[in-house]
Amino acid sequence: MGLEETRALICDVDGVLTDGSILLGEDGTEIKRFHSHDGAGLALFVECGFQVALLTGRKSGAARQRAKELGVQHVREGARDKVPAYEELLAAMGVTDAEVCYMGDDLPDVPVMRRAGWSAAPADAREEARAAASYVTHARGGRGAVREVVERILKAQGKWTGVLRRFQA
Ligand SMILES: [Mg+2]
Repeated sequence: MGLEETRALICDVDGVLTDGSILLGEDGTEIKRFHSHDGAGLALFVECGFQVALLTGRKSGAARQRAKELGVQHVREGARDKVPAYEELLAAMGVTDAEVCYMGDDLPDVPVMRRAGWSAAPADAREEARAAASYVTHARGGRGAVREVVERILKAQGKWTGVLRRFQA
């Protein structure tokens, strides 16, 4: 299955949208570091008419805050088993497996990567996630891996030139 069919992007958060670091304060406050290139890519992707969802096993509020900033439509936190959460997201977005690109970096992502029509793993993902992925990005997690996938989808669908035209790039 190819990227021509993609209508939605579902991303794991830790290790995909971040470098995997979890900064934890004494009071339990969790701090995550996101990259502006990934954020700008997701915002553009949503503007181009795609649906985006963040799917994470942790529950920190940081993912929800980041999604809100970027116009990302769906967030599922605290999903220990990612497959049922993935299925709920498909229903919420009205898309099929074939229309989904999933990005993940570790073992809990592998079953979902096998379901999605197309999948990607960051360069520094765990070996099993890289093996399951349709594509391994050149960029590392939290360092433009998501931006790389967004551009790849937009290019496959002939939409990237239109984006560049907007910025006269
Ligand atoms: Mg992860």
